[in-house]
Amino acid sequence: MQWIDLRSDTVTRPTAKMRKAMAQADVGDDVYGEDPTINRLEARAAEIFRREAGLFFPTGSMANQVAIRLHTRPGEEILCESRAHVLDWEMGTAAVFSGCTLRTVEAPRGILTWDLIRASVFRDVPFHASTGLICVENTHNMAGGTVMPAATAHEICQGAHAAGLPMHLDGARIFNAAVALNVTVHELTASFDTVMFCLSKGLGAPVGSMLVGSADHMRLARNLRKAMGGGMRQAGILAAAGLIALEEMPARLPEDHANAQLLAEAIGPFAAAEIDLGGVQSNIVIFTLPHGGDASEFVSAIRQYGVLANAVGPRAVRLVTHLDVSREECQRAAGAVAEVLAGWGNK
Ligand SMILES: *Cc1c(COP(=O)(O)O)cnc(C)c1O
Repeated sequence: MQWIDLRSDTVTRPTAKMRKAMAQADVGDDVYGEDPTINRLEARAAEIFRREAGLFFPTGSMANQVAIRLHTRPGEEILCESRAHVLDWEMGTAAVFSGCTLRTVEAPRGILTWDLIRASVFRDVPFHASTGLICVENTHNMAGGTVMPAATAHEICQGAHAAGLPMHLDGARIFNAAVALNVTVHELTASFDTVMFCLSKGLGAPVGSMLVGSADHMRLARNLRKAMGGGMRQAGILAAAGLIALEEMPARLPEDHANAQLLAEAIGPFAAAEIDLGGVQSNIVIFTLPHGGDASEFVSAIRQYGVLANAVGPRAVRLVTHLDVSREECQRAAGAVAEVLAGWGNK
């Protein structure tokens, strides 16, 4: 069966052009700083985000965790939103690698504001772990791909910096946020101390994420990456695909966002499902099944139609659009979703 795979945008495969660039990439030993293709990718990422330097990582989780280690000391606390990737999907590494705990702040649609954050900041209180870092996610994956506007991000960074706190952005899908808001990634990220973004999701590279920031931070991050086992050798083969992802793939993201809208609208009319249509802002659709069948039953049912989806909670289902699902496939998936939900009751 030819699956319509909406589990995640991580399932995207490298394009023909990426494979060709990978085959022809100039490479060297990157632990010695001698891989010309990685050096080019790091320089381009820094240029696009207008930072002093960039660093190539095998995964976004490693880049996030290295950033956390850069900014914190053991015993400190990291503030993040209640459904943040750094908390829920990174194996508790902040505790292991940085000796930090995480304190969560719940935000409507996952979009933090300085007003929501400020009450949870502790400094020099003899009962509480001191806040060492604030970490923001844009787009917010588990809130359904919601987007944080530039003004909100700047306000949080301003408040944090005034309190002497560094800011890290988990911008795994920052290009999706930029497309949704029609601004540049630089405008969305300018006030953060470090920014992580993924080449391997909607941008289609097979492997890789970037961290960008100051030259000093990236020098330290290079050592911490090695400490995590992330020093790669002739990884220019991967960076070659990453360069195409970075230069060419953001331009097609609006297609994925339009396809997510199509799926969300198919879910809207059914009593069996609950969806916040205004919260569908990029390439992710999350809906819940408050009564009747649960998320895993839905995932099995939709599988019979050749559509793959992920249960992201006992009653929550996630659909993610991407490069490897066409408009036509999303229309078929929308039809399948409607048929399954119709069997579970109309509004
Ligand atoms: C995917 C993702 C990451 C990084 O994941 P890796 O699989 O480690 O590359 C980080 N943050 C968010 C919000 C993500 O969606």
